[in-house]
Amino acid sequence: MKAMVAVKRVLDYNVKVKFKSDGSDVDLDNLKMGMNPFDEIAVEEAVRLKEAGVVTEIVVVSCGEAACTETLRTALAIGADCAIHVKAPQDLQPLAVAKTLVEVAKRIKPDLVIFGKQAIDDDSNQTGQMFAALSQMPQATFASKVEVDGPVLKVTREIDGGLQTLQLQLPCVITADLRLNEPRYVSLPNLMKAKKKELLSWTLDELNVDAVKRLRVISVSPPPVRSAGVILQSVEELHHQLKKTGLLGSH
Ligand code: AMP
Repeated sequence: MKAMVAVKRVLDYNVKVKFKSDGSDVDLDNLKMGMNPFDEIAVEEAVRLKEAGVVTEIVVVSCGEAACTETLRTALAIGADCAIHVKAPQDLQPLAVAKTLVEVAKRIKPDLVIFGKQAIDDDSNQTGQMFAALSQMPQATFASKVEVDGPVLKVTREIDGGLQTLQLQLPCVITADLRLNEPRYVSLPNLMKAKKKELLSWTLDELNVDAVKRLRVISVSPPPVRSAGVILQSVEELHHQLKKTGLLGSH
């Protein structure tokens, strides 16, 4: 079984976001970037399925600027077999990414396609769903457990107040939730070995993808700054303050 995993290069989740002074976007200059955390979980799941003898080949794909190859190398170090970099502007929108990945899938014919449930930069949570619709594959989003039984995939999803288990026919799409697994640590020897693995480079033109932007960002702004707290000495003082701010009635 061939697995294709979509990985996006995003701002490292430990880095504080900066904003451009004109409010047009976030400012990524000189900031540490890395693999979207949900995509690390997606790659880890594919590798576990390979270790279990279910998956035979893992192809990781990333669309964006040249630096995406670093992210792909990390995925290869986790255990993917081959990587495809689709050269594209970094701000490719979810529909364009989905269309690009559909074209890639047409060429490599995966049985299982794994996405992260969302990219932590734009929090769109759209690409996996759009890919599934465009490629007419069944989808299970927010997967927290995946079991393969022949041509059938059983996926557990965390939903409000409980768990839902879906059965899907391969080929199909899943999007990885936080609790699906805990990704392994990428060791230096594995990073070195990953340099020898195959990394192909394709273009949007070769794939004949219409990457026209259909959304326009009007503004991007930081959340309002929280005002400083006050330390009070007694319940009476608290009572007085709450009354003063109108949060407590007079009776
Ligand atoms: P989003 O819809 O932007 O929240 O992204 C959901 C998932 O789609 C991510 O976790 C990735 O698996 C995949 N994805 C999004 N953008 C890209 C990209 N530029 N290249 C490869 N995969 C992507």
